[in-house]
Amino acid sequence: MAEPASLRDRLGRPPGVLRLSLTARCNLACPYCCPDSQEPPELLSLTERLQLVAAAVDLGFGTLRLTGGEPLLNRDLEALIGGLQALRDPSSRPRGPLQDIALTTNGALLGAERARALKAAGLDRITISLDGTDGESVARMAGLLAGPSAGEALLAKVLAAVEHARAAGFDPAAGQLKLNAVIARGRNDDQLLPLAALARRLGVELRLIEFMDVGNRNGWNLEQVVPAAEMLQRIGAVWPLQPVGRASAATANRWRYRDGGLEAASGGGQLAVVASISAPFCGDCNRLRITADGVAYTCLFASSGFDLKPWLRPGGRPGADRAGLDAALRGLWRERQDRYSEERGPEAGSAEPSTPAAAHAEMAYLGG
Ligand code: SAM
Ligand code: SF4
Repeated sequence: MAEPASLRDRLGRPPGVLRLSLTARCNLACPYCCPDSQEPPELLSLTERLQLVAAAVDLGFGTLRLTGGEPLLNRDLEALIGGLQALRDPSSRPRGPLQDIALTTNGALLGAERARALKAAGLDRITISLDGTDGESVARMAGLLAGPSAGEALLAKVLAAVEHARAAGFDPAAGQLKLNAVIARGRNDDQLLPLAALARRLGVELRLIEFMDVGNRNGWNLEQVVPAAEMLQRIGAVWPLQPVGRASAATANRWRYRDGGLEAASGGGQLAVVASISAPFCGDCNRLRITADGVAYTCLFASSGFDLKPWLRPGGRPGADRAGLDAALRGLWRERQDRYSEERGPEAGSAEPSTPAAAHAEMAYLGG
């Protein structure tokens, strides 16, 4: 069954991570993301998503990240994860099996039962997003108009979600449970040290993400970007850090606390920074994004996507044209030559975007 010839895009990059968005909608309204209030009109069905992931796995996408919008709003989530388990069988997959299924969520809907159901369905890893450690900061970053008391309530839910995930068997020491935080200057950069302290106490890796110029609505400008080097310097001044490095094709650069993270019994985890503005990593980017309505994007900053529905429901009828879908995805990857982050200005990371902001698709539609 082996099919050795490997697929490469025009810059020589192989496929690796499929980010599948399950909804463009969200139960929060983070102002740096600005999710859609409505779904696109033609959402994919559960069956279509299973067919799509199977086709992607057979082209070499061994990692799947389920995202959104808020993916926990999708009632078929556990059924999708359960249905994908068949793709883990190496004997039936020409370019290797599906190895890893991860979920990115804001955690607000992650109760104990849901966490157990996701684990039982076969989810491998959860990343929970949290941008502050007090009610005021959380409310501001999540777009909660009711203010600090609503922020306190959300913070309590997210902290409970971390414990529900841990209790369900997602082990932070094995990289199965992490925290994501977007840091924007003047909005929540005062939360850097409190977030690091919280993650150390929880024994969970904290991934600090530079505020990115995705979409048209979030009012991005360079002054609001806190470069990864500055975040590391500010945290390292309190808890000295040691580099771990960046795994090939990974988005994050990782660091270890020199004191091992004394606060948590299991060790205080690691720190990671996603420096997509100050140190772009297009060179080995292996990600494909597919939206909730089946449109494929070969870059987070692409101005247009490629609709896969004509092969998922040929003539508008159910039943995928699997050969056509394979050829469409293969052709799309072979033609890929995006390297927007490296090209965004004359000196990468130091200038305004080279593509007009109006040309970008929104973050929650693309799935982050
Ligand atoms: N709703 C889920 C969540 O918030 O985790 C999943 C979707 S969200 C679009 C995925 C990730 O993208 C989150 O960690 C979020 O913080 C991050 N994100 C959204 N907008 C961003 C931006 N403009 N710059 C950097 N990261 C962003
Ligand atoms: Fe929703 Fe996630 Fe976007 Fe925040 S970042 S609005 S939680 S999709």
